Formats: sequence, C-alpha cells, structure tokens
Amino acid sequence: MTDTLAEKYTVDEYIERIIAFHGTLAPGLLIGGYMVDHALCNRPGGEFFDALCETSVCLPDAVQLLTPCTFGNGWLKICDVGRFALTFFEKYSGEGVRVHLDAAGLDAYPEIQNWFLRLKPKHDQDMERLIREIRTAKAGILGMKRVRVHERFVGKEKGGRIVLCPSCGEAYPERDGPRCRACGGTALYI
Ligand SMILES: [Zn+2]
Repeated sequence: MTDTLAEKYTVDEYIERIIAFHGTLAPGLLIGGYMVDHALCNRPGGEFFDALCETSVCLPDAVQLLTPCTFGNGWLKICDVGRFALTFFEKYSGEGVRVHLDAAGLDAYPEIQNWFLRLKPKHDQDMERLIREIRTAKAGILGMKRVRVHERFVGKEKGGRIVLCPSCGEAYPERDGPRCRACGGTALYI
C-alpha cells in the first residue's frame, strides 16, 4: 500500500472528494477506498477490469471515485447480497480478487467494530476516533481471496433489439419478453 489510494488521491484528497460527492464523510466510503486500493494492488494480470459490489451502500461510490468503473458505463455491477465486499475481476475470464471488511479482525479497533456491527447507536459513536482508527488500520482489517465471478457478470450484455411495449407504449429491450418489465409485474409506483 502506498500513501495514495488507487494511485489517484492521497487519503486527505480522497476525504475531500468523498464529502463533495457523497455529501458526508461516510466511514464506509473511507474504508471502501482502502478496499478498492487493496483489491487493485492484488488483482491478477489483465488489462480490463470490472468491479462487483456486494452491497449498494457506500462501496459503489468508492469504486466510482477511484476507478473508471461506474454503474452507468456498466463496468461496475452491484449485486446487493448485503455483504461489505467488492471484487475486481478481469472482464473476459472473470478471474479476480475479492476484498471484504473482516468483522473477526476488529478487536484492535473498537470504534470500527461499534460502527460496523452497530453495537452502539450512531449518536454514541465517536466519529473522530472512528476515522482515526480507519486511517491507522488501512488494509489491516480486510480479508482477501482470489475468486472467479459467476458467468452472468462476465462480459457485457449486448444491446439487442428495442421494441415498443404493447401495454405502456414505451421502448424496452425485446429480450425482456412480450411486455416491458414494469408492465410485467415489477412494481415501481403505487
Ligand atoms: Zn410496458
């Protein structure tokens, strides 16, 4: 680990970027910066990498601030299974490295433990100490392993044909079936 995150920002610069982009200095986004950095430093060889986040909270913003992978360009995929983990993988082979915040390794960092496992109500947490512990711990609280992502995350879904939905009249990808997914039962509005 160098003193810059993802060879892009110093930790202080990254904290400024978090506040500008995310609105507040979210602890999860700071830890996420170390997670992105740790994964990138240890990823297998290859040129083109996609990211997979296992939660929709905080981590996707860390990936978007520190790498070219965004939700909008399709290089960042989010599969919200509720785990604080992210993976960078070679986009054609699916070979990659997964990094997670290791709850079992937090004994030396009580304020991170309080925050991560919600052991204390938010207003009883010591934010300054929490940030200090995160900056001290760096990658020391992270677990890492080599993985191969499921084939549905590998490669980019090609566009395919666009058709008009017989129910709502709006355009949608034909591969979704005879009607758009909104008319097919995915409730969006009441
Ligand atoms: Zn429709």
